[in-house]
Amino acid sequence: MRTMRCRHFCTLVTGLLVALQAQLALAREQASKCIQIYYDRVPDSSPPYQTGYVHAIMLENLLGHFPEIQQYIIPIEMYRPNDLGKCGANIYLATFYENRVPQAFYDDYLTTPSTVVWAGYGIWHLPQSKQRSLWGVEFSGLSSLDADHRDADGKPAFYRNFDYKGEVFQKYAEFDRFHPVIFNAAYEISLFDVVDDDLAKQSTLAWARHSFTGDRVPYVLRHDNRWYIGDSPFAFIDEEDRYLIFADLLFDILDEPPRRQPGEPKPALIRLEDVHPLVALWQLYDMVNMFFRNEVKFSMSLIPVFRDPFLVNGDHPANRYVALTSRPYFQEFLKYAKERGGSFIFHGFTHQHDTERNPYNGMTGDDFEFWDRTQNKPVSDDSVNYVVGRLEDGLDLLGRAGVQPVAWLVPHYQASPLDYVIFSQLFSWNVGRIIYFPYSLTQSSRLPPQLAMDRLGAAGRARRATYFQDLAVAFRQDQTPTGQFFPYEIDRDFYAQRLIPENVGNVQPYMNEQVFRVETVDDMIRVLRRNRVLRDSWGSFFIHPFRLETRDREGLGEFPGDTAAVERLINAAKDAGYQFIDLETFIRNYRDHVVKKPVELQVEREGQ
Ligand SMILES: [Zn+2]
Repeated sequence: MRTMRCRHFCTLVTGLLVALQAQLALAREQASKCIQIYYDRVPDSSPPYQTGYVHAIMLENLLGHFPEIQQYIIPIEMYRPNDLGKCGANIYLATFYENRVPQAFYDDYLTTPSTVVWAGYGIWHLPQSKQRSLWGVEFSGLSSLDADHRDADGKPAFYRNFDYKGEVFQKYAEFDRFHPVIFNAAYEISLFDVVDDDLAKQSTLAWARHSFTGDRVPYVLRHDNRWYIGDSPFAFIDEEDRYLIFADLLFDILDEPPRRQPGEPKPALIRLEDVHPLVALWQLYDMVNMFFRNEVKFSMSLIPVFRDPFLVNGDHPANRYVALTSRPYFQEFLKYAKERGGSFIFHGFTHQHDTERNPYNGMTGDDFEFWDRTQNKPVSDDSVNYVVGRLEDGLDLLGRAGVQPVAWLVPHYQASPLDYVIFSQLFSWNVGRIIYFPYSLTQSSRLPPQLAMDRLGAAGRARRATYFQDLAVAFRQDQTPTGQFFPYEIDRDFYAQRLIPENVGNVQPYMNEQVFRVETVDDMIRVLRRNRVLRDSWGSFFIHPFRLETRDREGLGEFPGDTAAVERLINAAKDAGYQFIDLETFIRNYRDHVVKKPVELQVEREGQ
């Protein structure tokens, strides 16, 4: 027997496939606007195939910018005749070479009145005559790495550059840091010969260009409601990547207007990162004074307790544990920052774990708090009590210092699925990038929004505890997780979090054990400028206070306290049409959207 299951809070449904298909159709009729996401599950593959589902999660997340559209997430093998017509929009992420796709999908692709996007493999199953009449092109093969032509860093050439709206987006391409024989890049796309120049030009919304020859091929093709994209846009995503083209095209695919009109300033958000009681006060004051002088609203990610079990930061035993409440000067600074336009983000209780090196030195700001980085698994004490307890203690301290944070930010962006689910319920907003694991959840109730920590502080302690008693999250640790960033705000992600994006990265001009790739002020300015063509995109980034040090101390300054480089970044963002937002005001004025929970359909063998 086959069973079908929907994730999250849905009731477990069992029964015959046919009956459930009927139920699904009914649900879709009732939804005012819906989208079907098809993915490659490939149940028989060994080792288990994960990429298809992971890409579907990433698409589900991006669609969180359009939360009123009901999502259905469906393995392509479940496709039945005329299913494309059940929703106004459909996207098939064809990530598995020669997956067994029902013939009905190919047939319906050509006849459906709904919008259908096909991304990735298998376009050769569409007759060439149809490719010609739709887009003026013929499939000619898949691209590969061009090892005969390398750039100055020895990286092989491929179709790496993407022309879109007058800008050039570029795919990620790096040799693996730990296994340098591995070249990490999504170098494979579908190649097409242009057979009808006019029609191909008219149909091509983005072109791919070879990084050595400059040869250009259509990458995104559209003829009315029928779309094709040369690969799944979710492999090796990056701040400069073609992923952003896809994120922008979603507005057209869904026929949805952007939230902000062309000509309106784009929101920019700058975070002063890892602010804790032992950060040098001169750095903090110099940064805030510089923001104030430049009329820039800013935010600050705050860690209420500094820990240094191995005394890396000097040999004063008293510095092993320093709470912000024991530092009147630091609390005074926080008031000063608030009066000058600062918003506060809660960024961990200690931003390190216990008295361990996890993995660097055990010190606040350097180490991971909610993820065991040394063994790449949840921390040993990961549980509802551990997570909620730490957050409540941290918030209690912040409250005693007169600070009410407006959002949450995961230390190093990394936590277990259980933690992310808890964060989604405890905080109205989370900031930044997220690591996604496939997971399943059982819970009969959800924390009422009025008990969210950023509304109530630590005061709801006892009442909160009862809501989390029955929370259980299951996930497979052998599943490869994926990291994702977002160009725009997301009303609901895979963990049910509401997200403020971080899409420009941070100033990290020097390689070290924590920095795998250098990012300069100029890199960030390039990203900010390019993203002007993208609908609803933010310019969101962060910088550490110690960047005001001189270069020999990993700073950007000619002298200690030199703010010139940071001001250049800020002014470039303003010149590119961004406006630095007051995060607190943005959150206070945010219009709540109706958020539909995605429905996931999964065919499973009995006993699995
Ligand atoms: Zn941090």
